[in-house]
Amino acid sequence: MDHPVTLLNKEQLTHDVVRLTLERPKGYDFTAGQGIDFKLQVPTVKDKVSPFTFTGLHTADHLELTIKCYPSHHGMTEQIAKLQVGDEVIISDPWDTVKLKGPGVFIAGGTGMTPFIAILRQKKVDGALKGNSLFFFNKTKEDVFMEDEFRGWLGSDFHSVLSNDEAPGHLHGIVSADFLKSQIKDFHQPFYTCGPEGFVNAVKSALTSLGASEEMIDVQF
Ligand SMILES: Cc1cc2nc3c(=O)[nH]c(=O)nc-3n(C[C@H](O)[C@H](O)[C@H](O)COP(=O)(O)OP(=O)(O)OC[C@H]3O[C@@H](n4cnc5c(N)ncnc54)[C@H](O)[C@@H]3O)c2cc1C
Repeated sequence: MDHPVTLLNKEQLTHDVVRLTLERPKGYDFTAGQGIDFKLQVPTVKDKVSPFTFTGLHTADHLELTIKCYPSHHGMTEQIAKLQVGDEVIISDPWDTVKLKGPGVFIAGGTGMTPFIAILRQKKVDGALKGNSLFFFNKTKEDVFMEDEFRGWLGSDFHSVLSNDEAPGHLHGIVSADFLKSQIKDFHQPFYTCGPEGFVNAVKSALTSLGASEEMIDVQF
């Protein structure tokens, strides 16, 4: 079912990532990690449907999306970058993404972080962050969003990893068996990975080569 909702706030988190705060329709419910189909009544993208993931708490009085905008694609996110407070957007009913199997290691590439934001935010509220760690991969320091929140939630169990940049407080590297082996002690625990297809495939293959079983690796594109 389509739900037309009003954009209540738009905040620039980095040079290309925005946080949208949306009106919450009466009776609309979702759980942490769920995604939606997103549409706009803008001529250039009116037949396009794009998937995004809620990043707010399911108990909040509004809905929240965190979206990386690619103006060069001339698609949905180019139009999202142009949205103004008061504009109408259309969201679907929510659908499932990540299947949680207990505390584990979250490995995100760029905006693949979004389902984990909602999940970790909920775990914080539930007092259930212990035993979880997060590796957040980006190209440069300028691409890292919500760094302070993640450090506040997870302390030394949060690791920001930069592939094309070196900066104090950030690791430097790419996803590989060598990198993960240098950072993770236990490969017999749940792993959750989300990001571009090449990224999650590299994570999965590195983890399995290090002894993680496929059933313990939740993969989202
Ligand atoms: C389940 C799921 C959940 C997601 N959740 C989120 C989320 O919460 N936040 C988020 O930011 N993203 C999320 N994404 C990714 C997000 O859906 C895409 O980034 C978004 O749909 C891109 O839309 P777009 O129309 O701007 O560009 P695209 O649909 O990627 O591209 C539009 C057109 O641009 C062209 N194009 C493609 N690549 C390039 C390129 N490199 N250079 C030039 N032109 C190109 C192609 O012709 C393409 O048809 C999610 C994806 C999935 C599958």
